[in-house]
Amino acid sequence: MKIHFLGAADGVTGSRHLVESAGSRILLDCGLFQGWKLHRERNWVFPPELRELDAVVISHAHLDHSGWLPALVKHGYRGAIHASPATCELARVLLLDSAHLQEEDARRANRYGFSRHAKALPLYTRADAQRALAQLVPLTPGHETQIGRHRLRLSPVGHLLGACAVHLTEPGRQGLHLVFSGDVGRSRDLLMPPPQPVQQADVLIVESTYGNRDHPGEDPLERLADVVQRTVQRGGSVLMPAFAVGRAQALLLLLQRLRRAGRIDAHIPIFLDSPMAIEATALYRRHAKLLAVPASEMRTLCDGVRLVTTLQQSQRLAGSRYPAIIISASGMATGGRVLGHLKAMAPEPRHTLLFAGFQVGGSRGARLMAGEREIKIFGEMVPVRADVQQLPGISGHADRHELLAWLRHIRQPPRQTFVVHGEPDASDSLRSAIRNELGWPGRVPAHGECAEV
Ligand SMILES: [Zn+2]
Repeated sequence: MKIHFLGAADGVTGSRHLVESAGSRILLDCGLFQGWKLHRERNWVFPPELRELDAVVISHAHLDHSGWLPALVKHGYRGAIHASPATCELARVLLLDSAHLQEEDARRANRYGFSRHAKALPLYTRADAQRALAQLVPLTPGHETQIGRHRLRLSPVGHLLGACAVHLTEPGRQGLHLVFSGDVGRSRDLLMPPPQPVQQADVLIVESTYGNRDHPGEDPLERLADVVQRTVQRGGSVLMPAFAVGRAQALLLLLQRLRRAGRIDAHIPIFLDSPMAIEATALYRRHAKLLAVPASEMRTLCDGVRLVTTLQQSQRLAGSRYPAIIISASGMATGGRVLGHLKAMAPEPRHTLLFAGFQVGGSRGARLMAGEREIKIFGEMVPVRADVQQLPGISGHADRHELLAWLRHIRQPPRQTFVVHGEPDASDSLRSAIRNELGWPGRVPAHGECAEV
């Protein structure tokens, strides 16, 4: 078996691992590179290894795992794309939005002439995304399907609606069993059940986003209650920039719990201002059986929540002076409707900007968290006088301790463990923990490396 590490091998984005074995070429994940420019430029290169694939398997719908599918299809891939049924549905929401953003970027580059090329083209279009979505083949977790002579199975790993680890078994009695973790969720998560234990792996590819850290034990519910109460007392509003899929639903769940407990005033309106978050919330409610939340609670998730669908409604809300709680995307305030609210709210000390989740270096979210007192929005410098807070404890990723606990379920040491999907420190730290605490051989592959097991 040969594995080509074509992404998420020197960072957390662009997850792509090509498995060559028993006459088949199978791509595990087809993610978009995000963040640093150096990484994003890889999106424009077609790796020759990706010619003549037999199948693609997607662990979950996050764009760093699925967001390059339309580009792969644009380059001629016509085969099956296997994923869990919920991943297929979420991918529709995420890929169409991603294609829309790519088209917008190209349009903007052409309008303002900051493309180096004569005419900027989108990385892919909505038509490419539609074509990719038509190639999705749903595979129910726990069921098996055949890829060439290999057997393929998925097992839930928490993290995100539909997220699974991928199990690929080579033919024959001596055939190797490969497990690719995808992104592993937390042992106690607001929305998702704990990751299902994996008992057998001869070859393991494991993520390491939090490979060098443990999450703080603080309860997000308490912090949220505190922030909302203090803001309301001074007549202000709370703006929560939130990733539309997963994070927005977790925040709604917490707010509803606080409302039911009488800890936040029932008269303070809650707005969900993101068409993508509204769509994703509908999917989470439809797949309530896959969640750790009682179905009755999911049914009431949007009770009394005002869903803001049109841009006009969103602009009107940004202009309102009445106290409110507003959840809007994007989560790092890099774009989307949250910018309109940010521009209106940042200059006023009575408001709170509450960030939930990791803020990538260089993003507006990271700058605000670092205490910058001025921020550029729509080309204008806006003073920041609002209270800037962070809500800890709602990460979708297992921490170092939880990753090791999940790995301990594997009965026989894998022949080789490849540690991927982490910043260099995090990956190396998990690699040494795997070696020292579990006694397994492990390594961190380099970007573009091909390993033989
Ligand atoms: Zn993920």
